[in-house]
Amino acid sequence: MAGQRRRQNIYDVAIIGGGPAGSTAGTLLKKYAPQLNVVILEREIFPRDHVGESMLPMINLVLQEMGCWDKVEAADFPIKIGATYRWGRTDDLWDFDFLAGEKFEDKSRPSPYQGQRLQTAFQVDRSIYDKILLDHAQEIGCEVRQSTKVVEVRRDGDRITALLLEDGSDVTARYYLDASGSAGILRRAVGVEVDSPTSLRNIAIWDYWQNADWAVEIGVGGTRIQVMSLGWGWLWFIPLGPMRTSVGLVVPADYYKSSGKKPAELYQEALAAEPRISDLLANARSENKLATTRDWSFLASRMVGENWFLAGESAGFADPILSAGMTLAHTAAREVAYTILELDRGALDRQWLLKRYEESQQARIRAHIQFADFWYCGNGIFTDLQKYTSEIASTAGLKMDADEAFRWLSTGGFANDSYQFAQVGTWDVTAIKLLAKHFTGKDGGWDIGRNNVFDLRLEGSERDYVPILHDGQIQKVRCYTRNGKTLPNYGDFLVVIRVLRSNRFAEDVVKGFHQFFRERGHDPRKHMPYMLQTLEAMVAEGWVEASHDPSRPSIPIATPDETDSVHPNRDYKFAKATAEG
Ligand SMILES: Cc1cc2nc3c(=O)[nH]c(=O)nc-3n(C[C@H](O)[C@H](O)[C@H](O)COP(=O)(O)OP(=O)(O)OC[C@H]3O[C@@H](n4cnc5c(N)ncnc54)[C@H](O)[C@@H]3O)c2cc1C
Repeated sequence: MAGQRRRQNIYDVAIIGGGPAGSTAGTLLKKYAPQLNVVILEREIFPRDHVGESMLPMINLVLQEMGCWDKVEAADFPIKIGATYRWGRTDDLWDFDFLAGEKFEDKSRPSPYQGQRLQTAFQVDRSIYDKILLDHAQEIGCEVRQSTKVVEVRRDGDRITALLLEDGSDVTARYYLDASGSAGILRRAVGVEVDSPTSLRNIAIWDYWQNADWAVEIGVGGTRIQVMSLGWGWLWFIPLGPMRTSVGLVVPADYYKSSGKKPAELYQEALAAEPRISDLLANARSENKLATTRDWSFLASRMVGENWFLAGESAGFADPILSAGMTLAHTAAREVAYTILELDRGALDRQWLLKRYEESQQARIRAHIQFADFWYCGNGIFTDLQKYTSEIASTAGLKMDADEAFRWLSTGGFANDSYQFAQVGTWDVTAIKLLAKHFTGKDGGWDIGRNNVFDLRLEGSERDYVPILHDGQIQKVRCYTRNGKTLPNYGDFLVVIRVLRSNRFAEDVVKGFHQFFRERGHDPRKHMPYMLQTLEAMVAEGWVEASHDPSRPSIPIATPDETDSVHPNRDYKFAKATAEG
Protein backbone atom coordinates (compact mmCIF):
# COMPACT_ATOMS: atom_id res chain seq x y z
CA MET A 1 0.00 0.00 0.00
CA ALA A 2 2.76 2.45 1.03
CA GLY A 3 4.68 1.69 -2.19
CA GLN A 4 1.52 2.17 -4.27
CA ARG A 5 0.78 5.55 -2.63
CA ARG A 6 4.34 6.70 -3.26
CA ARG A 7 4.15 5.79 -6.95
CA GLN A 8 1.04 7.93 -7.19
CA ASN A 9 2.99 10.83 -5.62
CA ILE A 10 0.78 10.81 -2.52
CA TYR A 11 2.63 11.36 0.73
CA ASP A 12 2.01 12.09 4.38
CA VAL A 13 4.48 14.97 4.39
CA ALA A 14 5.97 16.82 1.39
CA ILE A 15 8.98 19.01 2.18
CA ILE A 16 10.14 21.64 -0.32
CA GLY A 17 13.92 22.08 0.00
CA GLY A 18 16.69 19.74 1.10
CA GLY A 19 18.75 22.29 3.08
CA PRO A 20 19.27 21.96 6.85
CA ALA A 21 15.61 22.76 7.65
CA GLY A 22 14.25 20.19 5.18
CA SER A 23 16.57 17.34 6.16
CA THR A 24 16.10 17.99 9.89
CA ALA A 25 12.30 17.86 9.66
CA GLY A 26 12.36 14.80 7.37
CA THR A 27 14.83 12.88 9.52
CA LEU A 28 12.99 13.49 12.80
CA LEU A 29 9.62 12.61 11.28
CA LYS A 30 10.96 9.27 10.04
CA LYS A 31 12.89 8.61 13.24
CA TYR A 32 9.80 8.85 15.42
CA ALA A 33 7.14 7.72 12.93
CA PRO A 34 8.77 5.31 10.43
CA GLN A 35 5.35 4.52 8.93
CA LEU A 36 5.02 8.05 7.48
CA ASN A 37 5.74 8.61 3.78
CA VAL A 38 7.94 11.68 3.68
CA VAL A 39 9.30 13.19 0.48
CA ILE A 40 11.98 15.90 0.23
CA LEU A 41 11.92 17.80 -3.08
CA GLU A 42 15.21 19.57 -3.82
CA ARG A 43 15.79 21.54 -7.01
CA GLU A 44 19.61 21.18 -6.98
CA ILE A 45 21.86 18.14 -7.11
CA PHE A 46 24.00 18.02 -3.97
CA PRO A 47 26.79 18.87 -3.26
CA ARG A 48 26.17 22.55 -3.91
CA ASP A 49 27.76 25.59 -2.25
CA HIS A 50 25.66 27.63 0.16
CA VAL A 51 26.46 30.61 2.35
CA GLY A 52 25.85 30.39 6.12
CA GLU A 53 28.69 28.35 7.56
CA SER A 54 29.37 29.40 11.13
CA MET A 55 27.06 27.60 13.56
CA LEU A 56 26.13 27.71 17.27
CA PRO A 57 26.37 24.94 19.91
CA MET A 58 22.59 24.48 20.14
CA ILE A 59 22.61 22.77 16.72
CA ASN A 60 24.64 19.84 18.08
CA LEU A 61 21.74 18.70 20.22
CA VAL A 62 19.60 18.49 17.09
CA LEU A 63 22.33 16.64 15.14
CA GLN A 64 22.62 14.17 18.01
CA GLU A 65 18.85 13.64 18.07
CA MET A 66 18.84 13.16 14.28
CA GLY A 67 21.46 10.44 14.76
CA CYS A 68 24.03 12.14 12.55
CA TRP A 69 26.51 13.68 15.01
CA ASP A 70 29.05 10.93 14.17
CA LYS A 71 28.72 11.57 10.43
CA VAL A 72 29.16 15.34 10.82
CA GLU A 73 32.05 14.89 13.26
CA ALA A 74 33.74 12.41 10.91
CA ALA A 75 33.82 15.13 8.21
CA ASP A 76 36.45 16.89 10.35
CA PHE A 77 34.93 20.37 10.14
CA PRO A 78 36.71 22.97 12.31
CA ILE A 79 35.44 23.08 15.87
CA LYS A 80 34.14 26.57 16.62
CA ILE A 81 34.86 27.66 20.17
CA GLY A 82 33.64 31.22 19.63
CA ALA A 83 34.18 34.46 17.75
CA THR A 84 36.81 37.21 17.63
CA TYR A 85 35.42 40.69 17.02
CA ARG A 86 36.72 44.04 16.01
CA TRP A 87 33.44 45.67 16.99
CA GLY A 88 32.45 48.28 19.57
CA ARG A 89 33.91 51.58 20.76
CA THR A 90 37.55 50.87 19.94
CA ASP A 91 39.60 48.91 17.40
CA ASP A 92 40.69 46.44 20.09
CA LEU A 93 39.89 42.81 19.38
CA TRP A 94 37.72 40.88 21.82
CA ASP A 95 36.33 37.36 21.96
CA PHE A 96 33.04 35.70 22.72
CA ASP A 97 33.85 32.08 23.56
CA PHE A 98 31.46 29.19 24.19
CA LEU A 99 34.12 27.76 26.50
CA ALA A 100 37.46 29.11 27.65
CA GLY A 101 40.00 28.29 24.93
CA GLU A 102 42.81 27.66 27.43
CA LYS A 103 40.70 24.91 29.00
CA PHE A 104 39.97 23.28 25.65
CA GLU A 105 41.41 19.76 25.66
CA ASP A 106 43.58 18.79 22.78
CA LYS A 107 41.65 15.60 22.01
CA SER A 108 41.94 13.63 18.81
CA ARG A 109 38.95 13.43 16.49
CA PRO A 110 36.41 12.11 15.66
CA SER A 111 35.01 12.52 19.17
CA PRO A 112 31.67 11.55 20.67
CA TYR A 113 29.09 14.17 21.62
CA GLN A 114 30.10 14.52 25.24
CA GLY A 115 32.26 16.53 27.64
CA GLN A 116 33.54 19.80 26.19
CA ARG A 117 32.04 19.03 22.81
CA LEU A 118 28.59 19.77 24.28
CA GLN A 119 29.67 23.42 24.42
CA THR A 120 31.34 23.80 21.04
CA ALA A 121 29.91 24.30 17.54
CA PHE A 122 31.02 23.54 13.99
CA GLN A 123 32.03 25.72 11.08
CA VAL A 124 30.95 23.81 8.03
CA ASP A 125 31.50 23.67 4.32
CA ARG A 126 27.83 23.70 3.38
CA SER A 127 28.43 21.72 0.18
CA ILE A 128 29.57 18.81 2.40
CA TYR A 129 27.38 19.42 5.47
CA ASP A 130 24.07 19.75 3.62
CA LYS A 131 24.85 16.58 1.62
CA ILE A 132 25.63 14.60 4.79
CA LEU A 133 22.29 15.66 6.25
CA LEU A 134 20.27 15.03 3.09
CA ASP A 135 21.87 11.58 2.58
CA HIS A 136 21.11 10.83 6.22
CA ALA A 137 17.47 11.77 5.71
CA GLN A 138 17.36 9.35 2.78
CA GLU A 139 19.04 6.58 4.78
CA ILE A 140 16.49 6.88 7.56
CA GLY A 141 13.70 6.45 5.01
CA CYS A 142 12.73 9.79 3.47
CA GLU A 143 12.28 9.73 -0.27
CA VAL A 144 14.77 12.35 -1.46
CA ARG A 145 14.27 13.69 -4.97
CA GLN A 146 17.10 15.92 -6.14
CA SER A 147 16.99 17.95 -9.31
CA THR A 148 13.27 18.27 -8.59
CA LYS A 149 12.03 21.81 -8.63
CA VAL A 150 8.62 22.78 -7.29
CA VAL A 151 7.32 25.27 -9.83
CA GLU A 152 3.82 25.89 -8.51
CA VAL A 153 1.95 25.51 -5.25
CA ARG A 154 -1.73 24.77 -5.81
CA ARG A 155 -4.22 25.70 -3.16
CA ASP A 156 -7.82 26.01 -2.27
CA GLY A 157 -8.02 29.00 0.05
CA ASP A 158 -5.56 28.36 2.85
CA ARG A 159 -5.32 24.67 2.07
CA ILE A 160 -2.51 23.43 -0.15
CA THR A 161 -3.85 20.87 -2.61
CA ALA A 162 -0.71 19.91 -4.59
CA LEU A 163 2.82 20.84 -5.58
CA LEU A 164 3.48 21.00 -9.30
CA LEU A 165 6.95 19.84 -10.34
CA GLU A 166 9.05 20.98 -13.28
CA ASP A 167 8.49 17.68 -15.13
CA GLY A 168 4.72 18.35 -15.12
CA SER A 169 3.85 15.79 -12.44
CA ASP A 170 2.41 16.76 -9.10
CA VAL A 171 2.81 15.72 -5.49
CA THR A 172 0.09 15.71 -2.86
CA ALA A 173 0.41 15.27 0.87
CA ARG A 174 -1.46 15.62 4.14
CA TYR A 175 1.10 18.22 5.35
CA TYR A 176 3.41 20.54 3.42
CA LEU A 177 6.57 22.17 4.74
CA ASP A 178 8.19 25.14 3.05
CA ALA A 179 11.92 24.68 3.75
CA SER A 180 12.91 26.32 0.48
CA GLY A 181 15.06 29.00 2.14
CA SER A 182 15.05 32.49 0.65
CA ALA A 183 12.94 31.21 -2.29
CA GLY A 184 10.01 30.87 0.15
CA ILE A 185 7.96 29.32 -2.65
CA LEU A 186 5.00 28.18 -0.55
CA ARG A 187 5.06 31.33 1.59
CA ARG A 188 4.80 33.48 -1.54
CA ALA A 189 2.13 31.26 -3.13
CA VAL A 190 -0.11 31.54 -0.07
CA GLY A 191 0.50 35.30 0.00
CA VAL A 192 1.94 35.45 3.50
CA GLU A 193 3.05 39.00 4.14
CA VAL A 194 6.53 39.69 5.43
CA ASP A 195 7.38 42.36 7.89
CA SER A 196 10.76 44.00 8.26
CA PRO A 197 10.85 45.39 11.82
CA THR A 198 14.22 47.08 11.24
CA SER A 199 16.02 49.44 8.86
CA LEU A 200 18.87 46.93 8.48
CA ARG A 201 19.29 46.63 4.72
CA ASN A 202 22.57 44.98 3.87
CA ILE A 203 24.13 43.11 1.01
CA ALA A 204 26.77 40.41 1.30
CA ILE A 205 29.63 39.72 -1.11
CA TRP A 206 31.74 36.61 -0.52
CA ASP A 207 34.20 34.16 -2.00
CA TYR A 208 36.02 30.99 -0.95
CA TRP A 209 39.77 30.78 -0.46
CA GLN A 210 42.24 27.88 -0.55
CA ASN A 211 45.18 27.66 1.80
CA ALA A 212 44.38 30.65 4.03
CA ASP A 213 45.99 30.67 7.45
CA TRP A 214 43.67 29.94 10.33
CA ALA A 215 43.47 32.92 12.67
CA VAL A 216 43.39 30.72 15.74
CA GLU A 217 44.36 27.10 16.23
CA ILE A 218 43.00 25.67 19.42
CA GLY A 219 43.64 22.01 20.18
CA VAL A 220 42.83 19.62 17.34
CA GLY A 221 40.79 21.57 14.83
CA GLY A 222 39.54 24.35 17.13
CA THR A 223 39.12 27.89 15.82
CA ARG A 224 36.95 31.00 15.92
CA ILE A 225 35.03 32.97 13.33
CA GLN A 226 36.65 36.38 12.76
CA VAL A 227 34.26 39.34 12.52
CA MET A 228 36.13 42.53 11.63
CA SER A 229 34.52 45.98 11.27
CA LEU A 230 35.63 48.56 8.78
CA GLY A 231 34.35 52.14 8.73
CA TRP A 232 31.73 51.15 6.13
CA GLY A 233 30.92 47.47 6.67
CA TRP A 234 32.32 44.29 8.15
CA LEU A 235 34.13 41.15 7.10
CA TRP A 236 33.66 37.53 8.11
CA PHE A 237 36.48 35.00 7.98
CA ILE A 238 35.30 31.40 8.53
CA PRO A 239 37.70 28.45 8.21
CA LEU A 240 35.62 25.56 6.77
CA GLY A 241 38.28 22.86 6.70
CA PRO A 242 42.04 22.44 6.56
CA MET A 243 42.23 24.11 3.13
CA ARG A 244 39.01 26.07 2.54
CA THR A 245 37.93 29.38 4.09
CA SER A 246 34.87 31.54 3.49
CA VAL A 247 35.53 35.29 3.51
CA GLY A 248 32.64 37.70 3.11
CA LEU A 249 31.84 41.39 3.25
CA VAL A 250 28.58 42.89 4.54
CA VAL A 251 27.73 46.51 3.61
CA PRO A 252 24.55 48.56 3.68
CA ALA A 253 22.76 48.39 0.32
CA ASP A 254 22.69 52.21 0.11
CA TYR A 255 26.43 52.42 0.68
CA TYR A 256 27.00 49.86 -2.07
CA LYS A 257 24.76 51.78 -4.50
CA SER A 258 26.25 55.18 -3.77
CA SER A 259 29.84 53.87 -4.00
CA GLY A 260 29.30 53.24 -7.73
CA LYS A 261 31.71 50.30 -7.41
CA LYS A 262 31.32 46.73 -8.58
CA PRO A 263 31.04 44.02 -5.87
CA ALA A 264 34.53 42.68 -6.72
CA GLU A 265 36.08 46.13 -6.27
CA LEU A 266 34.42 46.71 -2.90
CA TYR A 267 35.41 43.20 -1.79
CA GLN A 268 39.08 43.71 -2.69
CA GLU A 269 39.05 47.13 -1.04
CA ALA A 270 37.68 45.63 2.16
CA LEU A 271 40.27 42.83 2.25
CA ALA A 272 43.08 45.32 1.73
CA ALA A 273 41.71 47.60 4.47
CA GLU A 274 41.66 44.92 7.19
CA PRO A 275 45.25 43.94 8.12
CA ARG A 276 44.34 40.86 10.14
CA ILE A 277 42.39 39.32 7.26
CA SER A 278 44.87 40.35 4.58
CA ASP A 279 47.65 38.69 6.64
CA LEU A 280 45.65 35.48 6.89
CA LEU A 281 45.10 35.52 3.13
CA ALA A 282 48.71 36.38 2.25
CA ASN A 283 49.46 32.87 0.90
CA ALA A 284 45.92 31.96 -0.11
CA ARG A 285 44.27 31.86 -3.52
CA SER A 286 40.68 32.74 -4.25
CA GLU A 287 38.39 30.16 -5.85
CA ASN A 288 37.00 33.01 -7.97
CA LYS A 289 33.44 32.17 -7.01
CA LEU A 290 32.48 35.68 -5.96
CA ALA A 291 28.79 35.71 -5.01
CA THR A 292 26.43 38.45 -3.87
CA THR A 293 23.09 38.43 -2.10
CA ARG A 294 20.94 40.86 -0.21
CA ASP A 295 20.54 39.91 3.42
CA TRP A 296 17.58 41.99 4.53
CA SER A 297 16.12 40.90 7.82
CA PHE A 298 12.43 39.96 7.64
CA LEU A 299 9.76 38.00 9.44
CA ALA A 300 6.79 36.14 7.95
CA SER A 301 3.46 37.27 9.40
CA ARG A 302 2.20 33.65 9.45
CA MET A 303 4.16 30.44 9.94
CA VAL A 304 1.31 27.90 9.77
CA GLY A 305 -1.85 27.32 7.79
CA GLU A 306 -4.49 24.66 7.44
CA ASN A 307 -2.05 21.99 6.26
CA TRP A 308 1.26 23.83 5.88
CA PHE A 309 4.23 25.16 7.84
CA LEU A 310 7.18 27.46 7.20
CA ALA A 311 10.59 26.69 8.72
CA GLY A 312 14.10 28.07 8.35
CA GLU A 313 14.87 30.96 6.06
CA SER A 314 11.49 30.79 4.32
CA ALA A 315 9.98 31.95 7.65
CA GLY A 316 12.36 34.79 8.41
CA PHE A 317 15.90 36.04 8.38
CA ALA A 318 18.03 37.89 10.90
CA ASP A 319 21.21 39.64 9.76
CA PRO A 320 24.20 37.22 9.70
CA ILE A 321 26.11 39.19 12.34
CA LEU A 322 24.91 36.75 15.02
CA SER A 323 25.57 33.51 13.05
CA ALA A 324 22.12 32.38 14.15
CA GLY A 325 20.37 31.44 10.89
CA MET A 326 21.31 27.76 10.92
CA THR A 327 20.31 27.45 14.56
CA LEU A 328 16.92 28.99 13.78
CA ALA A 329 16.54 26.63 10.79
CA HIS A 330 17.44 23.42 12.65
CA THR A 331 15.38 24.22 15.75
CA ALA A 332 12.30 25.36 13.80
CA ALA A 333 12.39 22.24 11.62
CA ARG A 334 12.63 20.07 14.74
CA GLU A 335 9.57 21.83 16.14
CA VAL A 336 7.62 21.33 12.92
CA ALA A 337 8.40 17.59 13.03
CA TYR A 338 7.21 17.35 16.64
CA THR A 339 4.09 19.39 15.85
CA ILE A 340 3.13 17.11 12.94
CA LEU A 341 3.74 14.01 15.09
CA GLU A 342 1.40 15.40 17.77
CA LEU A 343 -1.23 16.47 15.23
CA ASP A 344 -1.30 12.85 14.03
CA ARG A 345 -1.49 11.50 17.57
CA GLY A 346 -4.45 13.77 18.22
CA ALA A 347 -3.99 13.90 21.99
CA LEU A 348 -3.19 17.64 22.15
CA ASP A 349 -5.32 20.56 21.06
CA ARG A 350 -4.65 21.35 17.36
CA GLN A 351 -5.08 25.12 17.71
CA TRP A 352 -2.71 25.25 20.68
CA LEU A 353 -0.05 23.26 18.79
CA LEU A 354 -0.22 25.56 15.76
CA LYS A 355 -0.35 28.75 17.82
CA ARG A 356 2.65 27.77 19.96
CA TYR A 357 4.72 26.88 16.89
CA GLU A 358 3.93 30.17 15.19
CA GLU A 359 4.37 32.35 18.27
CA SER A 360 7.64 30.79 19.34
CA GLN A 361 9.17 31.09 15.85
CA GLN A 362 8.08 34.68 15.48
CA ALA A 363 9.33 35.67 18.94
CA ARG A 364 12.67 33.97 18.32
CA ILE A 365 13.31 35.54 14.91
CA ARG A 366 12.13 38.96 16.13
CA ALA A 367 14.47 38.77 19.14
CA HIS A 368 17.38 37.99 16.81
CA ILE A 369 16.51 40.92 14.55
CA GLN A 370 16.41 43.20 17.62
CA PHE A 371 19.73 41.82 18.77
CA ALA A 372 21.24 42.52 15.34
CA ASP A 373 19.95 46.13 15.50
CA PHE A 374 21.69 46.43 18.86
CA TRP A 375 24.98 45.20 17.38
CA TYR A 376 24.91 47.63 14.50
CA CYS A 377 23.97 50.60 16.67
CA GLY A 378 26.64 49.72 19.23
CA ASN A 379 29.47 49.80 16.72
CA GLY A 380 31.46 53.02 16.88
CA ILE A 381 33.92 51.66 14.29
CA PHE A 382 31.28 52.29 11.60
CA THR A 383 32.61 55.83 11.12
CA ASP A 384 31.06 56.18 7.64
CA LEU A 385 27.75 54.65 8.68
CA GLN A 386 26.65 56.77 11.60
CA LYS A 387 23.58 58.06 9.77
CA TYR A 388 22.67 54.45 8.92
CA THR A 389 23.06 53.18 12.48
CA SER A 390 21.10 56.09 13.95
CA GLU A 391 18.31 55.36 11.46
CA ILE A 392 18.28 51.72 12.64
CA ALA A 393 18.15 52.89 16.26
CA SER A 394 15.32 55.30 15.60
CA THR A 395 13.22 52.76 13.63
CA ALA A 396 13.74 50.26 16.42
CA GLY A 397 13.22 52.77 19.25
CA LEU A 398 16.60 51.74 20.63
CA LYS A 399 18.62 54.04 22.91
CA MET A 400 22.26 53.11 23.27
CA ASP A 401 22.53 54.05 26.92
CA ALA A 402 23.82 50.97 28.85
CA ASP A 403 20.78 50.46 31.05
CA GLU A 404 18.30 51.33 28.30
CA ALA A 405 20.10 49.03 25.86
CA PHE A 406 19.70 46.10 28.21
CA ARG A 407 16.01 46.87 28.76
CA TRP A 408 15.46 47.21 25.05
CA LEU A 409 17.00 43.79 24.39
CA SER A 410 14.77 42.29 27.02
CA THR A 411 11.67 43.60 25.24
CA GLY A 412 11.72 40.45 23.11
CA GLY A 413 11.73 38.29 26.22
CA PHE A 414 14.36 36.01 27.72
CA ALA A 415 12.48 32.73 27.27
CA ASN A 416 12.38 32.52 23.47
CA ASP A 417 15.62 30.62 22.77
CA SER A 418 15.04 28.14 25.57
CA TYR A 419 12.26 27.64 28.09
CA GLN A 420 14.91 26.52 30.55
CA PHE A 421 17.47 29.34 30.73
CA ALA A 422 17.24 33.13 30.47
CA GLN A 423 19.08 34.09 27.30
CA VAL A 424 18.83 35.99 24.02
CA GLY A 425 20.60 34.72 20.90
CA THR A 426 22.49 32.19 23.08
CA TRP A 427 23.92 35.09 25.16
CA ASP A 428 23.14 34.84 28.87
CA VAL A 429 22.19 37.88 30.96
CA THR A 430 25.74 38.55 32.23
CA ALA A 431 27.15 38.36 28.70
CA ILE A 432 24.47 40.79 27.45
CA LYS A 433 25.27 43.23 30.29
CA LEU A 434 28.95 42.96 29.39
CA LEU A 435 28.13 43.62 25.77
CA ALA A 436 26.08 46.71 26.68
CA LYS A 437 29.04 47.91 28.78
CA HIS A 438 31.45 47.20 25.94
CA PHE A 439 29.32 49.05 23.37
CA THR A 440 28.38 52.06 25.52
CA GLY A 441 31.44 52.37 27.77
CA LYS A 442 29.19 52.41 30.82
CA ASP A 443 28.03 49.80 33.25
CA GLY A 444 24.24 49.91 33.42
CA GLY A 445 24.36 47.94 36.69
CA TRP A 446 21.85 45.35 37.87
CA ASP A 447 18.30 45.99 39.04
CA ILE A 448 18.72 43.17 41.55
CA GLY A 449 21.78 44.95 42.99
CA ARG A 450 20.12 48.39 43.20
CA ASN A 451 17.06 46.88 44.88
CA ASN A 452 16.58 44.35 47.63
CA VAL A 453 12.86 43.57 47.79
CA PHE A 454 11.44 41.30 45.10
CA ASP A 455 7.72 40.74 44.59
CA LEU A 456 6.42 38.25 42.06
CA ARG A 457 3.90 40.06 39.83
CA LEU A 458 1.77 37.62 37.90
CA GLU A 459 -1.40 39.73 37.99
CA GLY A 460 -3.06 40.22 34.63
CA SER A 461 -1.17 37.32 33.08
CA GLU A 462 -2.89 34.40 31.42
CA ARG A 463 -2.21 30.76 32.16
CA ASP A 464 -1.05 28.85 29.14
CA TYR A 465 1.37 26.03 28.34
CA VAL A 466 4.75 25.89 26.64
CA PRO A 467 5.66 22.84 24.57
CA ILE A 468 8.63 20.88 25.89
CA LEU A 469 9.97 18.61 23.17
CA HIS A 470 11.48 15.29 24.13
CA ASP A 471 11.89 11.94 22.44
CA GLY A 472 9.38 12.64 19.69
CA GLN A 473 6.64 13.88 22.01
CA ILE A 474 5.44 17.28 23.15
CA GLN A 475 4.79 17.70 26.83
CA LYS A 476 2.66 20.64 27.98
CA VAL A 477 4.24 22.63 30.80
CA ARG A 478 2.46 25.49 32.50
CA CYS A 479 3.51 29.05 31.79
CA TYR A 480 2.27 32.60 32.23
CA THR A 481 1.87 34.96 29.28
CA ARG A 482 1.43 38.71 29.34
CA ASN A 483 2.03 41.41 26.72
CA GLY A 484 3.48 38.89 24.29
CA LYS A 485 6.01 37.56 26.80
CA THR A 486 6.22 34.11 28.27
CA LEU A 487 7.28 33.00 31.74
CA PRO A 488 7.67 29.20 31.77
CA ASN A 489 6.99 27.25 34.93
CA TYR A 490 10.08 25.34 33.98
CA GLY A 491 13.87 25.20 34.36
CA ASP A 492 15.58 28.14 36.06
CA PHE A 493 12.40 30.23 35.81
CA LEU A 494 10.50 27.69 37.90
CA VAL A 495 13.11 27.77 40.70
CA VAL A 496 12.89 31.58 40.91
CA ILE A 497 9.07 31.49 40.91
CA ARG A 498 9.07 28.90 43.72
CA VAL A 499 11.57 30.77 45.88
CA LEU A 500 9.78 34.11 45.40
CA ARG A 501 6.45 32.60 46.42
CA SER A 502 7.74 32.36 49.98
CA ASN A 503 10.53 35.00 50.10
CA ARG A 504 10.77 38.63 49.09
CA PHE A 505 13.82 40.16 50.80
CA ALA A 506 17.16 39.77 49.02
CA GLU A 507 18.89 37.84 51.83
CA ASP A 508 15.94 35.41 52.11
CA VAL A 509 15.75 34.93 48.36
CA VAL A 510 19.45 34.01 48.24
CA LYS A 511 18.96 31.61 51.19
CA GLY A 512 15.92 30.19 49.39
CA PHE A 513 18.03 29.41 46.30
CA HIS A 514 20.69 27.72 48.47
CA GLN A 515 18.09 25.63 50.24
CA PHE A 516 16.40 24.61 46.98
CA PHE A 517 19.61 23.16 45.54
CA ARG A 518 20.97 21.68 48.80
CA GLU A 519 17.71 19.77 49.30
CA ARG A 520 18.20 18.21 45.87
CA GLY A 521 21.83 17.28 46.50
CA HIS A 522 23.31 19.98 44.21
CA ASP A 523 26.06 22.46 44.98
CA PRO A 524 24.19 25.80 45.30
CA ARG A 525 27.31 27.82 44.41
CA LYS A 526 27.26 26.37 40.89
CA HIS A 527 23.65 27.38 40.34
CA MET A 528 23.65 30.79 42.05
CA PRO A 529 24.93 32.84 39.03
CA TYR A 530 22.12 31.40 36.88
CA MET A 531 19.48 32.10 39.52
CA LEU A 532 20.59 35.74 39.82
CA GLN A 533 20.61 36.17 36.05
CA THR A 534 17.12 34.70 35.80
CA LEU A 535 15.89 36.99 38.58
CA GLU A 536 17.37 40.01 36.73
CA ALA A 537 15.68 38.88 33.49
CA MET A 538 12.34 38.51 35.30
CA VAL A 539 12.67 42.05 36.75
CA ALA A 540 13.45 43.42 33.27
CA GLU A 541 10.36 41.67 31.85
CA GLY A 542 8.07 42.87 34.62
CA TRP A 543 7.45 39.44 36.17
CA VAL A 544 9.13 40.67 39.37
CA GLU A 545 8.76 44.12 40.89
CA ALA A 546 12.00 45.23 42.52
CA SER A 547 12.14 47.94 45.20
CA HIS A 548 14.62 49.18 47.75
CA ASP A 549 14.42 49.02 51.53
CA PRO A 550 17.37 51.01 52.99
CA SER A 551 17.27 49.02 56.23
CA ARG A 552 18.04 45.72 54.50
CA PRO A 553 21.13 44.25 52.79
CA SER A 554 21.36 43.98 49.02
CA ILE A 555 22.88 41.37 46.75
CA PRO A 556 26.42 42.49 45.85
CA ILE A 557 26.46 42.12 42.08
CA ALA A 558 28.30 44.01 39.33
CA THR A 559 29.03 43.43 35.67
CA PRO A 560 32.56 42.03 35.50
CA ASP A 561 35.09 43.56 33.09
CA GLU A 562 35.51 40.18 31.49
CA THR A 563 34.37 36.60 31.91
CA ASP A 564 35.43 33.23 30.51
CA SER A 565 33.04 33.85 27.66
CA VAL A 566 33.53 37.59 26.90
CA HIS A 567 37.07 38.94 27.20
CA PRO A 568 39.86 40.80 25.37
CA ASN A 569 41.21 38.78 22.47
CA ARG A 570 43.33 35.76 23.40
CA ASP A 571 44.81 34.61 20.19
CA TYR A 572 46.24 31.24 21.01
CA LYS A 573 48.33 30.73 17.93
CA PHE A 574 49.77 34.23 18.11
CA ALA A 575 50.18 34.02 21.91
CA LYS A 576 52.14 30.77 21.53
CA ALA A 577 54.30 32.25 18.80
CA THR A 578 55.09 35.29 20.98
CA ALA A 579 55.95 33.10 23.96
CA GLU A 580 58.24 30.95 21.81
CA GLY A 581 59.72 34.00 20.08
C1 LIG B 1 25.19 36.43 3.66
C2 LIG B 1 24.69 35.39 4.61
C3 LIG B 1 25.52 34.91 5.61
C4 LIG B 1 25.05 33.94 6.50
N1 LIG B 1 25.87 33.50 7.50
C5 LIG B 1 25.41 32.62 8.40
C6 LIG B 1 26.25 32.11 9.42
O1 LIG B 1 27.44 32.42 9.51
N2 LIG B 1 25.69 31.23 10.30
C7 LIG B 1 24.40 30.83 10.22
O2 LIG B 1 23.97 30.06 11.08
N3 LIG B 1 23.59 31.26 9.23
C8 LIG B 1 24.07 32.14 8.32
N4 LIG B 1 23.26 32.54 7.31
C9 LIG B 1 21.90 32.02 7.23
C10 LIG B 1 21.86 30.59 6.65
O3 LIG B 1 22.41 30.59 5.38
C11 LIG B 1 20.41 30.13 6.59
O4 LIG B 1 19.81 30.37 7.83
C12 LIG B 1 20.25 28.64 6.27
O5 LIG B 1 20.84 28.29 5.06
C13 LIG B 1 18.75 28.33 6.23
O6 LIG B 1 18.55 26.97 5.96
P1 LIG B 1 17.23 26.50 5.19
O7 LIG B 1 17.28 25.02 5.20
O8 LIG B 1 16.06 27.20 5.74
O9 LIG B 1 17.41 27.06 3.72
P2 LIG B 1 18.51 26.72 2.61
O10 LIG B 1 19.76 26.26 3.26
O11 LIG B 1 18.59 27.89 1.73
O12 LIG B 1 17.90 25.48 1.83
C14 LIG B 1 16.79 25.66 0.98
C15 LIG B 1 16.85 24.60 -0.10
O13 LIG B 1 15.63 24.69 -0.84
C16 LIG B 1 15.91 24.47 -2.21
N5 LIG B 1 14.85 25.08 -3.01
C17 LIG B 1 14.57 26.39 -3.17
N6 LIG B 1 13.50 26.55 -3.98
C18 LIG B 1 13.10 25.31 -4.34
C19 LIG B 1 12.06 24.83 -5.17
N7 LIG B 1 11.24 25.66 -5.83
N8 LIG B 1 11.92 23.49 -5.32
C20 LIG B 1 12.75 22.63 -4.68
N9 LIG B 1 13.77 23.04 -3.91
C21 LIG B 1 13.94 24.37 -3.72
C22 LIG B 1 17.26 25.15 -2.40
O14 LIG B 1 17.95 24.63 -3.51
C23 LIG B 1 17.97 24.83 -1.08
O15 LIG B 1 18.78 23.67 -1.16
C24 LIG B 1 23.73 33.47 6.39
C25 LIG B 1 22.89 33.94 5.38
C26 LIG B 1 23.36 34.89 4.49
C27 LIG B 1 22.45 35.40 3.41
